[in-house]
Amino acid sequence: MSANTPIRVLLVEDEAGDAQLVKIDLRQTRGEHFTVTWVESLGEIQPCLQASDFDVLLLDLSLPDSEGLATICKARLLVGETPIVVLTGRGDTDFSLKALEAGAADYVVKGNFGYDGLARAIRYALFRAEMEARNNLLVAALEAAANAIVITDKSAIIKWANSAFTRLTGYSSEEAIGHNPKSLINSELQDKSFYRDLWTTILQGKNWRGELINKRKNGNLYYEELSIAPVKDKTGEITHFVGIKEDISERKRLEEQLQKLANTDPLTELYNRRVFLECVAQEIARLARFESLSAALLMIDLDYFKRVNDTYGHSTGDKVLQQFAQIIRQASRTIDLPARLGGEEFAILLPGATQIDAMAMAERLRQQVAETFIPHEKGAVRITISIGAAALSADDRDGDAVLSHADTALYEAKDAGRNLCRWFNANPHKNQSITNK
Ligand SMILES: [Mg+2]
Repeated sequence: MSANTPIRVLLVEDEAGDAQLVKIDLRQTRGEHFTVTWVESLGEIQPCLQASDFDVLLLDLSLPDSEGLATICKARLLVGETPIVVLTGRGDTDFSLKALEAGAADYVVKGNFGYDGLARAIRYALFRAEMEARNNLLVAALEAAANAIVITDKSAIIKWANSAFTRLTGYSSEEAIGHNPKSLINSELQDKSFYRDLWTTILQGKNWRGELINKRKNGNLYYEELSIAPVKDKTGEITHFVGIKEDISERKRLEEQLQKLANTDPLTELYNRRVFLECVAQEIARLARFESLSAALLMIDLDYFKRVNDTYGHSTGDKVLQQFAQIIRQASRTIDLPARLGGEEFAILLPGATQIDAMAMAERLRQQVAETFIPHEKGAVRITISIGAAALSADDRDGDAVLSHADTALYEAKDAGRNLCRWFNANPHKNQSITNK
């Protein structure tokens, strides 16, 4: 409160002499200016409040219409948040403490204000009221925040949590206070080094921010974005940590969905051409590092697939593609990478496979597909596949180079009558292609 603005005091005192002493005392106070409105009973407070606002209520507890501590409660109902300083006739500490418990901001003993005592009590009451109002405002803001906010002491014991924390974790603030967040929401999916880095950062007085998986009270896991800010006292010592948590499970789910959309073919859910070429390039790089390794890829084409679409319609064509995708998924080992390159063109990357392994796999696939049919009202739909296979080599420029080798072998298989597997031979004069039919 500015020193130039008068402090408006409402004095409720039924003894004229005591009221006079208060007025004189406040008039003599240096540095501050008080305006005092004097009434003699609780009943007169209401009309005064209608006429003016007051900064502080100076209240005698023995009034014609009220007596003792009850006077504080009744006055509180009338003046709302306005701080009340009690004028007590007793030098009784117990009674004065009860006055504070009943809602008084402070008390002064009548006739014994001492130097600046009354003014100081008023100033303190105003300061406390301002702090309380400010505190209430901050708590309201923290409570209204959409993000979960949790305050811990230096040893990570929860001292306060807002209602968004309850919505996020399922723990009420009463259940949370006094506990370490670790004992409540740790999913144990982060390793020790994760928490070591976190603690190293915040104990250095720096903010930490990261993503982690935590566990709700009901046991469900969720993705959380957490930022932690250390709070320091005036000497720079860390006293508390403020954690702000956001549930990012939905964002993570969308990210994963987008990732999947970007990496897979929606019809068959196999990897797409781009991912396939990246994996082939990685495999080539591995071969360049480890000469003893081998790897191959199969390029597979559904024979006369256009006829399936023309005869049975596109939805049957799609079913054939899905069924074929299922067959190559099941035929693949965990380390193999089946993909749909586009249209009726598929490929499988076979890390570790030799020519013999790759051709055995190709032949198994060819037979299995030839034996499979899809029921249709116009009769069973049967298809065959042609396969071109090629080895990966450290000399290959990229995935496209290997694919073009496999493609050459695939065209040989088609030229030779389809429903065949062919191995790409870099030197056509030494024809080692294997025909399986
Ligand atoms: Mg009295």
